[in-house]
Amino acid sequence: MRNKKITICACTSRSFIDKNKVALLATELKEKGHEVAIIADLCEMVMSRSNDLAEVAETEILACYPRAIQAQMDWLNLPTNKLHDIRNNEADAILSEFDIVFDQANSKEADPPIIDQIKGLPSAPGADAWYPIIDKSKCTNCGKCHDFCLFGVYTIENKAIKVVQPQNCKNNCPACARVCPSKAIIFPKYAKSPINGGTIEEEQFDPEALDNMYQERLKYRLRQRRTGISLQKNNNK
Ligand code: SF4
Ligand code: SF4
Repeated sequence: MRNKKITICACTSRSFIDKNKVALLATELKEKGHEVAIIADLCEMVMSRSNDLAEVAETEILACYPRAIQAQMDWLNLPTNKLHDIRNNEADAILSEFDIVFDQANSKEADPPIIDQIKGLPSAPGADAWYPIIDKSKCTNCGKCHDFCLFGVYTIENKAIKVVQPQNCKNNCPACARVCPSKAIIFPKYAKSPINGGTIEEEQFDPEALDNMYQERLKYRLRQRRTGISLQKNNNK
C-alpha cells in the first residue's frame, strides 16, 4: 500500500480529542510507514489563516467532524483530501480506513516520544478559536445570521453570506447557528452535535426559545447603542 501523509489534530485548546487515542493512532500509522504530523489545534490554524494549512490540506486529516473540517477548508478555498472522524470513531475503526487491522487488547503501548510530543503541544496556541463556519452545501444565503449577529462576524458579498470577522464572535455563543433555518452554521468548538458539525443529535433546540433569543438580542442592541459596547472579542470570557 502507498504510504500516506497524515495530519492528526490533538484539539489542545478545548480537548475534544482523547490524547491517548492520538498517541496510539500516530504510533500505529507511523509503524506502518505513513508520514504522520500531529498539530495542536486545526481550528486555531484556520482562524489565524496559518501558512502551514496548504500543506495540511494535502494530507488525510484525522480531526473532529468531517463536515466541520470540510467547511473550514472551503472557507479558505483549500482543497481537502480524505477526512477521518477521530472524535467519535474508535482507534480500530479509524485504522481500518488505512487497511490496518488493530487489536487493542494485544496492541503495544503508544511510542513514548510521541506521547511526549503531544504533552508538549501548546494548550492555548493562539486566540481561542471560537467562530462560526458555514456549510455552503446547506446555506441558502437567506441572510438571517447576518441580520442577527451584533458583532459584524458576517457580511454579504454579491448576495452570498460570508464569515469575515471570526475573531469578533463572542466566546461560547452559538446563537446564530440556532437562527439558521437550514442548520448550515457550524461552531467546531461547541461541545455538542449537531452545532459542532457532528451527525449525532446530542442536543435539541426548542424553537420556542427563539423568541427569547431575539428579545435578548434586541436588549443587547439597545445597550450597545447606549454605551458603545466594543465589538471586539474578549478572550478572558
Ligand atoms: S474542534 Fe476539531 S478541528 Fe478544531 S481543534 Fe478540535 S479536533 Fe481539531
Ligand atoms: S442563516 Fe443559515 S442559510 Fe441563512 S445565510 Fe446564514 S448560514 Fe446561510
